Amino acid sequence: MTTTCTTCPYCGVGCGVLATPGADSVTIKGDPDHPANLGRLCSKGSALGETIDLEGRLLAPQVDGHVAEWDEAIALTASKFREAIDEHGPDSVAFYVSGQLLTEDYYVANKLMKGFIGSANIDTNSRLCMASSVAGHKRAFGSDTVPGTYEDLEEADLIVLVGSNLAWCHPVLYQRIAAAKAARPNMRVVNIDPRRTATSDLADVHLAIRPGSDVALFNGLLAEINGQGAVDAEFVGAHVAQFVEALDAGRRDDPAETGLGADDLKAFYDLWVRTEKVVTVYSQGVNQSTSGTDKVNAILNCHLATGRIGRPGMGPFSVTGQPNAMGGRETGGLANMLAAHLELTEPAHRDAVQRFWQAPAMAARPGLKAVDLFEACADGRIKALWVMSTNPAVSMPAANAVRDSIAACPFVVVSDLFADTDTARLADVVLPAAGWGEKSGTVTNSDRTISRQRPFLPAPGQTRPDWQIICDVAAAMGWGNAFTYGGPADIFREHAALSGIAGEMGRDFDISGLADLTDAEYDHLQPTRWPVTATRSGGRFFGDGLFFTPDGRARMIPVENRDMAAQPTEARPFRLNTGRVRDHWHTMTRTARTPRLSQHIAEPYVEIHPADATALGIKAADLVNVSAPEGQIIVRALITDRTAPGSVFVPMHWTSQWSNNGRVDVAVAPAVDPVSGQPELKGAAVAVAPYRPVWYGFAVSVAPPDLEAVPGLSYWAKARTETGWRIELAGEIPPICWEANAKLLFGVPVETDTLAMSDPKTGTARVVARDGTRTLGALFVARTPVEVARAHVIAGLATLAPEMLLAGRPALDQPDPGATVCSCYNVGVNTIARAVAEGASSVEAIGAATGAGTNCGSCRPELKALLLPPMQVAAE
Ligand code: SF4
Repeated sequence: MTTTCTTCPYCGVGCGVLATPGADSVTIKGDPDHPANLGRLCSKGSALGETIDLEGRLLAPQVDGHVAEWDEAIALTASKFREAIDEHGPDSVAFYVSGQLLTEDYYVANKLMKGFIGSANIDTNSRLCMASSVAGHKRAFGSDTVPGTYEDLEEADLIVLVGSNLAWCHPVLYQRIAAAKAARPNMRVVNIDPRRTATSDLADVHLAIRPGSDVALFNGLLAEINGQGAVDAEFVGAHVAQFVEALDAGRRDDPAETGLGADDLKAFYDLWVRTEKVVTVYSQGVNQSTSGTDKVNAILNCHLATGRIGRPGMGPFSVTGQPNAMGGRETGGLANMLAAHLELTEPAHRDAVQRFWQAPAMAARPGLKAVDLFEACADGRIKALWVMSTNPAVSMPAANAVRDSIAACPFVVVSDLFADTDTARLADVVLPAAGWGEKSGTVTNSDRTISRQRPFLPAPGQTRPDWQIICDVAAAMGWGNAFTYGGPADIFREHAALSGIAGEMGRDFDISGLADLTDAEYDHLQPTRWPVTATRSGGRFFGDGLFFTPDGRARMIPVENRDMAAQPTEARPFRLNTGRVRDHWHTMTRTARTPRLSQHIAEPYVEIHPADATALGIKAADLVNVSAPEGQIIVRALITDRTAPGSVFVPMHWTSQWSNNGRVDVAVAPAVDPVSGQPELKGAAVAVAPYRPVWYGFAVSVAPPDLEAVPGLSYWAKARTETGWRIELAGEIPPICWEANAKLLFGVPVETDTLAMSDPKTGTARVVARDGTRTLGALFVARTPVEVARAHVIAGLATLAPEMLLAGRPALDQPDPGATVCSCYNVGVNTIARAVAEGASSVEAIGAATGAGTNCGSCRPELKALLLPPMQVAAE
């Protein structure tokens, strides 16, 4: 068995993975030599081996829903794009690409659109992720540069986490900080987030800031830095412009706008001011905002004023969501960027790229950003659209309108691993792309480290790597000479050579030192932090005070607090926040395939404060309708004081493959930051109301449930389990016969044996379907949310006698493990609670007693939360 060193395809931490294919499985381990993770993996990374089977894979091109030959699909794609360009001009076509693409894919897609088609209508789902950081960096530094490194997080004496649930969204970085804090207990962690999250458990203090008020908080800090004499006058005098203007603007803000008390503000400000080694980490809570760019600059202003940037253990640190968001930035994958961090609006930059590419038709102006791009599909400006490796019909704000706009576009191509996604269902042509473990290239993580993704499996069926698909279409459009590559190494060398020209023009992104790699050297490329030039390799930026502006000085940007998110109204009194859960990734096309990752949270939900729930008459586990003019969803109530009164939180992952009404972005308005174009995904105004079906159900099934067959279902959510499937159900019309409906749901013949009991008076019913000695499924129905021991029923589907299964609960002498906390070893909350009651007083002791938290460690924050008394929370 051969082990391949590759890189995790999920988040922007960019962990190194060792993959060892066996006869019928792939063993996954963390790469101890990779600098991002040093051997660690989170729950998602650990389960990668369970997500690469071919079930549901698209293995051949499809044209109008029929299997087609590659030649036909490529020719049709090329001719439709050519037709649109000839008739309506180059801006009538668009690409919408993805942070899942490898750098080499990104490079050729950008080259084709911006250099050969002659439009900049290529945008990426990274627009939803970190466009505000890009814009903030460029305003302050003159370049999109992340100054620091992951080591800074371990060397800092104070880490400020802003809008970042690191424990769930970047778990290995969280683990690195937790380990550093354990080794140096004097290290301080402050968590700034309107919502208390798993990350808050690591923090010494959680500041539950009013949503959207981050600029007021950091403007107050800037004033305090100045007031306490902590400005680095030498650094500012030599290397920073607009200090006075930024300070004046900052003084106009009142930190009380944050909703934090004066004592809490003072304690935070004092801690920040007196701690030289401070890193401010921020991610989507800052970026996904109509004032995201200003929030970024408010943070950068404080680091520039104190000169705390580009030195060990200090600096601002933007953490990217996606595995190759940074690679997309480097290749110009955003509609307002060129390649190699060159500027689309600079004639000299455009000329240099055009000469390098020998391009016939360089784009002359920025293209359509994501929200505008889909609006242009809706109003007919875009005649041909190609979506690569992403699912905008779920992930874009106003997702129903986006779905309709894609459906309205005259010609749509989707290249992806699966044909059954909300977006691929709308395509005229679906092209089968090679996936993780099958394709070869590079990705760049949040601290500028370029890592190889290497194949360890053959590409199945007729799948092709994205770069090859793009080059095939380019060739069919007549540009074969410029898109003939022997493999990804050729593309990488060209990308690196172009970056050398950018470096000569004074840009930050320069990896010209890698432009002459041989194929073998590319194959063996070790994780490498850029820049890589003849004179420089890796390290930090800006410690020398040199920035990438025309005069070499950084800019402090005057910003004022302006929460432009839709404000709650009488009709829509709640502010909707969206985000990730621990064990799922994006639209679940990969993570929902594995029972291990589906058991932690198996259903879309809404976090709502107890006071709001009481006022609305919502009880635990009720179904809840969350609505806005753009759309509405139905999700399960999770009543918790982690969310502030007046706010609700819904996870972003559920698609129509996994829940009929759980696509949260249908209820998010398409408001964007005016500078970055990044949508406000954390501030929609919504109405919240109990949803009262006539009946609720819970079922387990050996076979995939046939939800279309069951009449009158108004709500369902399904997930995989170790024994088959679990399904939550509800309906507005009670069926005539529960046994018949159970058989329809389980997809079994009408003559299948059943064991059933029902009580028309109470509206309860229970059905177990049997095929001889084998149980095929069990259905539990009630007029209120079904109370059965779900973990017990799921496990018992394969083992329990039908009468025992029908009981829905373990016998008194049998333990109920409860809801899963540790996905690796399937340890439930009741099991952990028993261990704590029996004396386990630390995370390690829980691990010793139950195994929980002893593999990937992703559940350790939750274990800690089960042990700790309520933490200090500063709130309104
Ligand atoms: Fe993958 Fe987890 Fe590492 Fe992110 S933290 S790269 S999801 S293993």
